[in-house]
Amino acid sequence: MKDFSTALREVGLKATKSRLSVLEALAEMGGHCSADEVHQYLTGRGQAVPRGTVFKVVGDLSEQGVLMVTDAGPGRTLYEYAEEWHHHFVCRICKTIFDVPCVEGRKPCLLPDVEVPAVIEEAQIIFRGVCNECHEEQGS
Ligand SMILES: [Zn+2]
Ligand SMILES: [Zn+2]
Repeated sequence: MKDFSTALREVGLKATKSRLSVLEALAEMGGHCSADEVHQYLTGRGQAVPRGTVFKVVGDLSEQGVLMVTDAGPGRTLYEYAEEWHHHFVCRICKTIFDVPCVEGRKPCLLPDVEVPAVIEEAQIIFRGVCNECHEEQGS
């Protein structure tokens, strides 16, 4: 994994303490977390970063592509450290989200079959269904 200060500097952002704390928290929490969860996690660790700052940091970092906004459908905005472009599976029962590798590994991995009046930059795919655990529970 890339060093966070390097990742920040590469996009022209200063490696401030609050930015680094947010990135570390997301890495430790395993990604797919809301800004509020990051805030709670940091507070719980005695590394309090003001809630407003956390929201600003995740916003700035996703704008710069350091963080990826996890497209998991409606609900809270979830963030993760963007190491590799990938898609997500969302369980419709327990709402678990996990990564699904992108076969292409680059954007856009899917283009419309028809011509659209636009330049397509990315395609996010959400796989939905029932995770194995929920599937087993239903079966028994
Ligand atoms: Zn499930
Ligand atoms: Zn993910």
